Amino acid sequence: MAASVDEIGSSLAREVEAGGGRVYPGIPWWLRFVLSRRTLAITIGRRIYLGRELLARSADEIEAIVAHELEHVRQFARVGLLRFAWRYAGDYVRNRWRGLSSFEAYEAISFEVEARVAENRLRHAKENGEDVRTA
Ligand SMILES: [Zn+2]
Repeated sequence: MAASVDEIGSSLAREVEAGGGRVYPGIPWWLRFVLSRRTLAITIGRRIYLGRELLARSADEIEAIVAHELEHVRQFARVGLLRFAWRYAGDYVRNRWRGLSSFEAYEAISFEVEARVAENRLRHAKENGEDVRTA
């Protein structure tokens, strides 16, 4: 079941749809099993899963995270599932090899850096009271 428009805001819901994504409330049990408890959301291909903990937060916070995850949908579409997974894991291992902590290594993954740009663009736009519409 996809998350309702109320949960993510109608303008962002349209953007998700335009990007070919689908938003689902809750993280599937088989993913929870391999993820950190701190994971708020995860995207696999076109599917964006929003954790219960995230859904309890403010609408602005949920939307910022959806913008982040939508960038991952675009990345998956751009490079394909296998190349995404390969590059993502490769970045992480290289970052750990350089001596970064687990969290720092995750944050420095190129796909994550790119997704945070999209997330922060939405956060700043909202802070400035701009009509949030990213292309
Ligand atoms: Zn991410």
